[in-house]
Amino acid sequence: MDLQSAEQRVKELQNQLSQYGYEYYVLDNPSVPDAEYDRLMQELLKLEEEFPELKTPDSPSQRVGGAVLDMFEKVEHTIPMLSLGNAFNEQDLRDFDARIRKAVGENVSYVCELKIDGLAVSLRYEDGLFAQGSTRGDGTIGEDITANIRTIQSVPLRLKEPISIEVRGEAYMPKRSFEALNKARQERGEELFANPRNAAAGSLRQLDPKIAASRKLDTFLYNIGNPEVIDVAAHSEGLDYLDRLGFKTNKERRKCSTIEDVLKYIKEWTEKRPQLPYEIDGIVIKLDSLEQQAALGTTAKSPRWAIAYKFPAEEVVTTLLDIELSVGRTGVITPTAILEPVKVAGTTVQRASLHNEDLIREKDIKIGDKVVVKKAGDIIPEVVNVLADQRTGEEREFHMPTHCPECESELVRLEGEVALRCINPKCPAQIREGLIHFVSRDAMNIDGLGEKVISQLFAEQLISDVADIYKLTYEQLISLERMGAKSVSNLLEAIEASKANSLEKLVFGLGIRLVGAKAAKTLAQQFGSMDRLAAASKDDLTAINEIGDKMADSIVNYFEMEEAQELIAELKAAGVNMDYKGAKPVSAEESDSVFAGKTVVLTGKLEQLSRNEAKEKIEALGGNVAGSVSKKTHLVVAGADAGSKLTKAQELGIEIWDEEKLLEELNK
Ligand code: NAD
Repeated sequence: MDLQSAEQRVKELQNQLSQYGYEYYVLDNPSVPDAEYDRLMQELLKLEEEFPELKTPDSPSQRVGGAVLDMFEKVEHTIPMLSLGNAFNEQDLRDFDARIRKAVGENVSYVCELKIDGLAVSLRYEDGLFAQGSTRGDGTIGEDITANIRTIQSVPLRLKEPISIEVRGEAYMPKRSFEALNKARQERGEELFANPRNAAAGSLRQLDPKIAASRKLDTFLYNIGNPEVIDVAAHSEGLDYLDRLGFKTNKERRKCSTIEDVLKYIKEWTEKRPQLPYEIDGIVIKLDSLEQQAALGTTAKSPRWAIAYKFPAEEVVTTLLDIELSVGRTGVITPTAILEPVKVAGTTVQRASLHNEDLIREKDIKIGDKVVVKKAGDIIPEVVNVLADQRTGEEREFHMPTHCPECESELVRLEGEVALRCINPKCPAQIREGLIHFVSRDAMNIDGLGEKVISQLFAEQLISDVADIYKLTYEQLISLERMGAKSVSNLLEAIEASKANSLEKLVFGLGIRLVGAKAAKTLAQQFGSMDRLAAASKDDLTAINEIGDKMADSIVNYFEMEEAQELIAELKAAGVNMDYKGAKPVSAEESDSVFAGKTVVLTGKLEQLSRNEAKEKIEALGGNVAGSVSKKTHLVVAGADAGSKLTKAQELGIEIWDEEKLLEELNK
């Protein structure tokens, strides 16, 4: 880039970042995710490094935080309150470690701390009595929020020693307080806080301390402004001292003597993060020795002896390039956002379901928009909102088609549904999706027969219904693209093996409307064979607890169809098993196991059993396995890396077992 274009881009970035900084620090109401701010900041830092003449003292890269609100008294920080340099990956951390060792020698040790997502505050004590609390402000001048800080229960008003000390730390809003606050705001029709950090900042910068008091804030102190007043040589000793004085410090801190140990700590907390009752956005790594800290010193913005590792972004900004339509197994037309590929929480995302037209209207999504994307439940990508103020005028309105994109028959909107459907039973897209469903894991589970192979077989007209799968020959399969002799013979074996599946897999695989995997299991258990199920009346079906009117109608209708009868006859002729092979479920009354009548949720990775095996065993003992945690859950079994379900269980005070305890009870 030449100087002229660099100058223009630097100006743009400075303006944009100043605006975002103002919204974030002053209004406590950011308009873009943190990752977007960080991305632009990195770009600015790089350009300013390449063209140092473009770096101005008022550049957002040179300043700490934001402006100070006039409504508060100003407080001068005699010891500046700085920001932290950022690391986004392992290399950044290794570079940091190398810089440190180059400057102070090999004898270093670090303290790793959780980076609490709140706002920095400074607390000043005179002779052991709380005298003043302030915000960081621009690092030199902060706001006097003494009255609000006093309302935080964990802030001691009198220390255990009559000492004059200035301590710094993070004021934050625990997840639980945040959820309750936003719920109450929603009920009152007030604007919601974007995240606990902004809620905490907004609460502390209220003129009425009663409001701050009602917000249930908390603190973790992590630094002493004037450590010379006490006799400590290391940061870690200072933290222990803060504990003794009566402050609340974060107990998850750990001393690490190598960067490898630091990386281990980061990995550990990346996984355990969802279980914390408060939000963290990274890990702070600090050099432990105060003497070494002093030798390294600070830049205008941040200390050279510490760095903040930021977790991979959970919300990012990208461009919505197009909206594609897909036709599902049941004919539902789903619009899918095609995104400029972007990393979200560590993996690349390029598609996100937009569900239906109503949602597109509600979020005012246009093709070409800049959108915020996140992974819901940490798995499924979702478009959170549109950055409407970044529109250029080139964006295009999206309209749902009136006809099926695959078979061109007219689409209908069934009563009470938001989705548009193609109701042509011969629609090739629906047939293809039905075939993919049939071979999927919870259905017939035919290994090697994934979406791609099915689509090829269907396109080549080698299969047109599920019975055709059992007629496939070696010659047909070997003619497919990228199919070797070995994979063909494996595939034929898997097809053959699937014939022996227990009835519920076939029932689910047939794709009868409204019949999910769980209902299929119940039906197979109750009727025992396909013939008996096919002959069941609506009354027979609704006599079963879990089968409602609508599902019963759908089942009866299905088996009345001539095509269905023919299909089942063909499958039977091909040698596909039509009987239930599993254990008959024990009713809660019949069982004397601890699982009898209990609702159990399995979460995380189990090492010794598959989820399905665990589920079957629990059900065989009269328990019921559910997918999500609620007040009705009796027990949660948490395997390795358990996430939000475990957190929820902890919050609700539900009994939690590990895998070992589960095995012990199952084997009793
Ligand atoms: P920072 O958040 O990167 O790091 C410094 C801060 O970390 C400290 O001031 C302190 O408050 C906090 N912290 C938490 N735990 C700590 C611990 N254990 N030890 C030391 N400090 C700890 O820097 P910053 O200057 O506060 O904020 C910059 C960040 O704010 C950006 O990286 C961005 O993510 C966010 N931001 C977002 C927007 C937006 O528009 N979304 C705008 C401005 C800033």
